[in-house]
Amino acid sequence: MESKNSNEKVPNFIRNIIAEDLKNNKNEGRVQTRFPPEPNGYLHIGHAKAICLNFGLAEEFGGKCNLRFDDTNPVKEEDEYANAIEKDVRWLGFDWGEKTYYASDYFEQMYEYAVQLVKAGKAYVDDLSADEIRQYRGTLTQAGVESPYRNRSVEENLDLFERMRKGEFPNGAQVLRAKIDMSSPNLNMRDPVMYRILHAKHHRTGDKWCIYPMYDWAHGLEDSIEGITHSICTLEFEAHRPLYDWFLEQLGVFHPQQIEFARLNLSYTMMSKRKLLQLVEEGHVNGWDDPRMPTISGLRRRGYTPESIRDFAERIGVAKRDSMVDIALLEHCIREDLNKRAPRVMGVLNPLKVIIDNYPENQVDELDAINNPEDPEMGKRKVPFSRELYIERDDFREDPPKKYFRLAPGREVRLRYAYYITCVDVVKDENGEVTEIHCTYDPQTRGGCSPDGRRVKGTIHWVSTPHALDAEIRLYDHLFTKEDPGDVDEGEDFRSNLNPESLKIVSAKVERSLENARVENFYQFERKGYFCVDPDSSKESLIFNRTVTLRDTWAKIEKAQKGKS
Ligand code: ATP
Ligand code: MG
Repeated sequence: MESKNSNEKVPNFIRNIIAEDLKNNKNEGRVQTRFPPEPNGYLHIGHAKAICLNFGLAEEFGGKCNLRFDDTNPVKEEDEYANAIEKDVRWLGFDWGEKTYYASDYFEQMYEYAVQLVKAGKAYVDDLSADEIRQYRGTLTQAGVESPYRNRSVEENLDLFERMRKGEFPNGAQVLRAKIDMSSPNLNMRDPVMYRILHAKHHRTGDKWCIYPMYDWAHGLEDSIEGITHSICTLEFEAHRPLYDWFLEQLGVFHPQQIEFARLNLSYTMMSKRKLLQLVEEGHVNGWDDPRMPTISGLRRRGYTPESIRDFAERIGVAKRDSMVDIALLEHCIREDLNKRAPRVMGVLNPLKVIIDNYPENQVDELDAINNPEDPEMGKRKVPFSRELYIERDDFREDPPKKYFRLAPGREVRLRYAYYITCVDVVKDENGEVTEIHCTYDPQTRGGCSPDGRRVKGTIHWVSTPHALDAEIRLYDHLFTKEDPGDVDEGEDFRSNLNPESLKIVSAKVERSLENARVENFYQFERKGYFCVDPDSSKESLIFNRTVTLRDTWAKIEKAQKGKS
């Protein structure tokens, strides 16, 4: 984990590689990276790490980063996803220039490259079925077996490959394979499949193609065609690198350097797109942008800022070994950002009515409240005080335990920015539930301090009843109950770890100034956390999402670690 000052660039092994390449004038001093999502789902926080890394490095070294859709699988890909991806990358604060790149734009070129390999005797058409290919492939301890079709003549291969393209054969009848080495210790090198037949409509090329390139074949070519200098990808591609290199060497084309880094794993979070899609389709969440989702659109709706996500990406650093990042660190990053920027307001999530017996009816006192103690320039606002107020239900206890310093019969507390009040009476309904409490206030304590130096231990927030606005508040908890949601009993899957209490909705009373709240505005509700206005919100019905509470468990962990060392 990296140091506290997030504005400082922390050295990492990829930065070092690029700096060294520049020193040696490799690629004529050019730095070109890319972010290559497959448009088969929404981007998540793991992608944000890759985005910040690729765009960040390009920016830092005066290079460029392409946004490229790796749209080589027609079956699962859609424009909706492509549009959402563009929106999210832009929102994170990155710019990929005029042109958006698509792997599908290179289908013709890739086909020609494949023909080139066939002509060189380095690729062949195989009639084995997918199952047979798998069987022939061997295992880690056992060499593979060559296909009986492996030694077809170049002419026959050229003819068959062309006919595959023309659509003469059904799905699965043939594949084009690279002719490498069936006994290679690296399974990826055992004659990998380059093309498969798939009679399917593609979101951009329509019906033009019925053969589609496989990832390993396509990806290096995409990088090469775009002149990518550093092709940064996640660790699971490490064993694919020899193949990446092999294809480019055989073709004798521009050869980018593939560099692998550890993907982000986050506690209490599931990051597989397939599983996220399942959560959406089965209605476990309300769409891809549900504030409980780890998607960028979900985080945005939850109230995360682009700055906080970029800060997080910088702090987690770049490593060569997989690990699990504590979600408390992500929450810490948004707290730090919002602490500086979020206006403070008062909102009561679970209201209890308070009547100030000695306060004149119909009188309203406009009190000064500080908008952000961290930033004096944010100024002050007026909050109305009147005879009837709401306080938080759990800020009152009829029978207070030890060390409870808030309101109780006979006790005095400070109302934030207002007066000292003392509880004099409690009213209950027939079930014994407290319905309202009566207090007296001390007019001498206006602004929250007493001229006689009398002290109170508790300060609580409140809103004036006649001035309060109603608001729906959505309180979130982790979507999963386990740190590793994939950790399940036999016969179960990750869904058994879904947290049934990940969303709680309450009806709150919030202060008058929030009548001007607009979508995506963020606030600190004093003592209750950071909140943002949900897009479903309107002037008539205000809806807030709680982004995070104020309890910063990460800061505690950090402090404890410092104490130890
Ligand atoms: P899948 O392969 O399951 O569809 P993916 O998450 O790998 O999903 P891609 O669209 O291929 O999806 O990802 C785009 C880029 O984001 C890739 O370069 C990938 O390495 C990177 N990426 C994906 N997940 C993570 C992660 N958890 N941490 C860091 N980078 C990631
Ligand atoms: Mg992938």
